[in-house]
Amino acid sequence: MVVKFDFHTHTRYSDGTCSHAEMAETAAARGMMALAFTDHGPELSVGVAREKMAQMLEDIRMAGEDAEIPLLAGIEANVTNRFGGLDVGEDFIRKLDFVSIGIHDIEEIYLSDNAHEYLFRATSAIAKNEVDVFCHPFFFNKDLLPQLSAEEIEEFVELAAERNVAMEVNVKYRVPGDDFLKLCLKKGVKLSIGSDAHRVAEVGKIDWALSALKRVGAKREDLVFDSLVG
Ligand SMILES: [Zn+2]
Ligand SMILES: [Zn+2]
Repeated sequence: MVVKFDFHTHTRYSDGTCSHAEMAETAAARGMMALAFTDHGPELSVGVAREKMAQMLEDIRMAGEDAEIPLLAGIEANVTNRFGGLDVGEDFIRKLDFVSIGIHDIEEIYLSDNAHEYLFRATSAIAKNEVDVFCHPFFFNKDLLPQLSAEEIEEFVELAAERNVAMEVNVKYRVPGDDFLKLCLKKGVKLSIGSDAHRVAEVGKIDWALSALKRVGAKREDLVFDSLVG
């Protein structure tokens, strides 16, 4: 049986429109076996306010008591600089069930070569931090993978394997492509599924990801699910 899960969702704590309970109820109704909440880290303009981070975790725990499926308390931390810095500290990360990171910003001075700047930041971030999932890999306004060489991509995927960082199949941006997913499978990099939902209409709508996983021949053991939902 295919495992269905959604490990990338937003609530009112960042730029989503719904509560944890509303998202959990809909995810369960859509057949998800687990749901992770990954509101944006505090340095994105729409990210969770630092003073609300503790309350956010408390809300997730409370929603979890009534939910029909396991709820993971997570974050979509921002990679904030070229050296792998994140916008959440280790003390906060230790309280989470799930840590994902995303690149949402590249300073203007580096924009002339987005693809290589993105690769540099992504490499630094997964080398330096203990994270579960890398969100919407190589999507920065568009899919950047076609601008990178096969060697560059392979080196990154090998590092992800070594660091045990899963790559996300992101439904919202429909990335990454099949070749990248196949390379992940070949190198032993686990895959995650994320709707990147910002409202109940989107949560648990993972058909695009399930099709991609099927096309590339991913099996249950290739997914992050079992290691994170015990
Ligand atoms: Zn994101
Ligand atoms: Zn997101």
